[in-house]
Amino acid sequence: MSKDMQIGTAVAPRGSKVRGVIPVGKRAGAGPIEIPLTVVNGAHDGPTLWLDGSLHGDEHEGPIALLHMINRLDPESLRGCVVCVPVVNVPAWEFSTRGNPGDLFTYDLNRIYPGRPDGHLTERIADAHYQEMIEHADMEISVHSGGAHSYLAYAQFFSGTPEGYELAKAMGPKWDLLLKHAGERGSPQAMMRAKGRPAITVELGGLCDTFPDRFRATGEHLYGAFLNVMRHYKMIDGKTEYAPKWMVGVQKTVILAPTSGFWVSEPSVLRQRIKEGTKIATIYNLYGDVEAEIKAPFDGVPFGIRTNPAVQLGDWCVFYGLIEEEIS
Ligand SMILES: [Zn+2]
Repeated sequence: MSKDMQIGTAVAPRGSKVRGVIPVGKRAGAGPIEIPLTVVNGAHDGPTLWLDGSLHGDEHEGPIALLHMINRLDPESLRGCVVCVPVVNVPAWEFSTRGNPGDLFTYDLNRIYPGRPDGHLTERIADAHYQEMIEHADMEISVHSGGAHSYLAYAQFFSGTPEGYELAKAMGPKWDLLLKHAGERGSPQAMMRAKGRPAITVELGGLCDTFPDRFRATGEHLYGAFLNVMRHYKMIDGKTEYAPKWMVGVQKTVILAPTSGFWVSEPSVLRQRIKEGTKIATIYNLYGDVEAEIKAPFDGVPFGIRTNPAVQLGDWCVFYGLIEEEIS
């Protein structure tokens, strides 16, 4: 319920927008390690929606969407509370790298929740964020993308519970690919599921798609999708929009590079339902020879594809979903 909200150092009375931080520790030189956030506490009762960006520091779609939310959302017209955390892993984001290059012991923040208060630096960031989120959030959305390596297109990982379906469907018409994720540790979404609360991990964009007009459009789209979620849960007024039907399945596999070389994707397979054996990409050597062809391992949907043409043996190449059912 919406009341005075205290999250980290932010104390937000009803009908206010207050900024603060979740403290983590100190930097080696000077200054703090902390997680900046803005709490928009509505004037009226309602649920608390917690929005996270940049758990991976090379994924900037969350920050641009949340800047819009912070600057535009009017607490007077809000029922409930919206907690905006544009960048969770600040040390990684400062270098635009997936993990913090200064933490040699834990790298991927989105695999280590709930973290450890006495663990390595990134585990402590996870713990500090987790403690506040799990105390306050009724539902959570983490924004991800293909970062420095790939482009991902309108895919969601969600808990296949009734509450999980409800939140996933509320993202709006373009979000029609729902990938069930059953894990109960590792990510904010998994930790929320373990508490019986809905959470989704949404995937859109990548560093390849941050050219000015495209990047701004992605930010506006995600901001609009958050508003759609808020309309669904009656946090703001207006008509909610839904996809006419949804593809529900699992991320059956991520295809890893079978060899190193020069990656060239086929132009028209991303986000299409393709048949087993359909060519997705070719890896060449620097003499122009074909080293490997990447083909669909089964009938499914490639919802993310590598965009960094230099590929190393074992790199992530294709994020591939198996569709189990269509629902409407
Ligand atoms: Zn990510």
